[in-house]
Amino acid sequence: MKHNFGAGPCILPHGVFEQAASAVLDFNGLSILEVSHRHKDFVAVMDEAIDLVKKALNVPSGYSIAFLQGGATLGFTIAALNMMRGTKKAGYINTGTWATGAIKEAKKVGVDVNVFASSEDKGFTYIPKNYQVPTDVDYIHFTSNNTIYGTQFKEFPKTDLPLICDMSSDIFSKEINVADFDLIYAGAQKNLGPAGATLYIVKDEVLGKSTSPFMPTYLDLKQQVEKESMLNTPPVFAIYVAMLNLRDLLSTGGVKAMESKNNAKANLLYNEIDSNDAFRGAVQSEDRSNMNVTFLLNDESRSAEFDALWKDAGIVGLPGHRSVGGYRASMYNALPIESVQVLVDVMSEFSRKG
Ligand SMILES: *Cc1c(COP(=O)(O)O)cnc(C)c1O
Repeated sequence: MKHNFGAGPCILPHGVFEQAASAVLDFNGLSILEVSHRHKDFVAVMDEAIDLVKKALNVPSGYSIAFLQGGATLGFTIAALNMMRGTKKAGYINTGTWATGAIKEAKKVGVDVNVFASSEDKGFTYIPKNYQVPTDVDYIHFTSNNTIYGTQFKEFPKTDLPLICDMSSDIFSKEINVADFDLIYAGAQKNLGPAGATLYIVKDEVLGKSTSPFMPTYLDLKQQVEKESMLNTPPVFAIYVAMLNLRDLLSTGGVKAMESKNNAKANLLYNEIDSNDAFRGAVQSEDRSNMNVTFLLNDESRSAEFDALWKDAGIVGLPGHRSVGGYRASMYNALPIESVQVLVDVMSEFSRKG
């Protein structure tokens, strides 16, 4: 077995892979790949998936769940279109590539974007603090975990305006208070399931209030919620596997238990980075992410040597994103702490050899 530190699509529990594989061959007499999305057996899967999201995150009443296609990238547009109100202005925090993407897409649909906080000045290596949240805008948008740079908000922006968050890479990794948000969206493939489904958690109050001059039916969360994510053919298999993964999460202590496992994994690796003089962290330490741990070699000339060591240990997916380089250990929910220990052992062996 390999130790998969890839940033996404991500590792899922082995038992989930097994159940998914068996449903490809036999899902109540059909393959899950051929079953109609209107069949009662799949409608039951969709209902259970929605119910499990609500249980896992303690979603209060007055919120709806949708599983759509298009990834978080289409979420950038969906968020802007659905949250646009009278001012047609919005406040965005720019903490990296994905936040930049959200800003760009909001502008494309006519939102006047006010980037009121940004960490671009230092290559997105920290989370901005002490910013003034604007009050003359329709909504505030931020990205809770910056998958590429390895930074994570430890405290969310405070505002009375609708708060929107792209939680693609840390949803279900720690407890959150859904009531603080009007809209949360997340591509499934970082911590929830296979690529192909995107999760939306939306406050019912905001549905149908857009002032956008155009609203394609598919992108209208009101329609999607009313049609229970079946406005068109949903990503049946991706939703099925996400449902299996949520079952697994809830049967192993839920998000609370997962959060302490994730803290233990992060502590183990960050302690090694901090104490091993062959490496250094790539971002400001108080802002570093528990999901995507980015680090650099102090002596770049030894990179081939390090790469050979971790590859030999069965580790995959460790190189940093092509836009930033270095190393990135993505430690999503399903990655066992034993895999982190393998990486830590490789790092200490590497430093002993240096
Ligand atoms: C991966 C990622 C995206 C893009 O997701 P797609 O599903 O590929 O569109 C957006 N935001 C964040 C935070 C991500 O990690």
